[in-house]
Amino acid sequence: SRLIDRYRDRTSNSRDLFEEATDVFPGGDTRAATYHRPYPSFIESAEGYTLTTADGEVLLDFLNNYSTAVHGHAPEPIVHAITDQVERGNALGAPTEVATELGQRLVDRVPSVESVRFANSGTEATLTLLEVAKAATGRERVLKVDGGYHGHHPEVDVGLPSADHRGRHPENVGTETVAYNDVDALKDVFAEHGEEFAVFVLEPILGAGGMIPATTEYLETARDLTTDTETLLAFDEIQTLRLAPGGAQQRYGVEPDLTALGKVIGGGLPVGAFGGRREIMDVCHPERRSVVHSGTFTANPATMAGGVAALDMLDEGAISDLNRLGATLRQRVTEIASAVDVPLTVTGDGSFFQVHFADEPIDRWDDVPDDQVAKRILFMAMRTEEVFIAPRGMGNLSTPMAEAQLDTFCDAFETALEAVEA
Ligand code: PLP
Repeated sequence: SRLIDRYRDRTSNSRDLFEEATDVFPGGDTRAATYHRPYPSFIESAEGYTLTTADGEVLLDFLNNYSTAVHGHAPEPIVHAITDQVERGNALGAPTEVATELGQRLVDRVPSVESVRFANSGTEATLTLLEVAKAATGRERVLKVDGGYHGHHPEVDVGLPSADHRGRHPENVGTETVAYNDVDALKDVFAEHGEEFAVFVLEPILGAGGMIPATTEYLETARDLTTDTETLLAFDEIQTLRLAPGGAQQRYGVEPDLTALGKVIGGGLPVGAFGGRREIMDVCHPERRSVVHSGTFTANPATMAGGVAALDMLDEGAISDLNRLGATLRQRVTEIASAVDVPLTVTGDGSFFQVHFADEPIDRWDDVPDDQVAKRILFMAMRTEEVFIAPRGMGNLSTPMAEAQLDTFCDAFETALEAVEA
């Protein structure tokens, strides 16, 4: 509560703005993830790795809008590409070449994606990907992993990651769940129901479920079992494309049949995409009318232009710098906690990290400790040190960052750990 008092003292403008917002929005916002107690800070502007709040604080941003802002905020080449497109007109009711340019980049980067379609969010991408899988296989059921997050639509709204979600829609029809990173459980479910599933969809790193990378054995088993049962294997790489030019499937060496994409591919504007083998994706051909995939803002030119600029900046060198910094940060945070005997495990890969207050290895969703309170204290303590992460203790890096930003993070983390211990 001392932390909350300190927060309130510094954020009176945000409090006033939040009160105004609650007149208009249930809960004062229109996005569950950005809500936290006593109220979130309002952001006035952002540049590079900083956010400036309505209260004049300058935060070091290790959240990057849940990883969409891989180049930080308002990077010049992306701003230029987007404004240039908007000035020439946007959302034109007809195709534009810039969408093909972005599609080509995705196809070039991700070999399993031979053919692709855009959507306006990751939620919409996975929703339509499941439709494609059903149309292509003639089967109706979906298999996902416990703790897997694929957006907010009913078919994936089961076995959800956070304590806030757990238990929602438990009787959800059509979707079966299986334990993540548990090879035997996967074999069992395929032995019993394998021929019923249109698709097995999973994140190569369980994201909202705790930033837990899949084991190679699990991914390879998934590949074999889906092939044997003529089930499609779909990777939700909405978060993980930033791990390698070709995403986690390249980094981990397992190729799916279908891939969902989003976040970094829109240059910071709303986006999603799904793609895969050509003969599967052909169910979207408008003349077949097998899957009618439309959307007034789909392949929005400004988003496409922003995405082209963002991906051109996210080359192999930029990604390897990000991944190296990520490994350093995970290591340093682990060392800080162990020096003061706080039980802590840092999960993640590439430029992602998540802290968990437990000293057991965290390989499965079930291993994630029930440490919501400690994570929220950490979040608030980091926030009063002007370092911004997700309330669930997750963060990621952006390309403008260097060792100096890790130093600031680590200093804040050391101070914040004292608050967690107190
Ligand atoms: N899938 C994964 C793996 C995600 O991380 C997210 C968003 O966090 C989504 C799907 C949903 O994407 P969106 O928020 O753009 O609807």
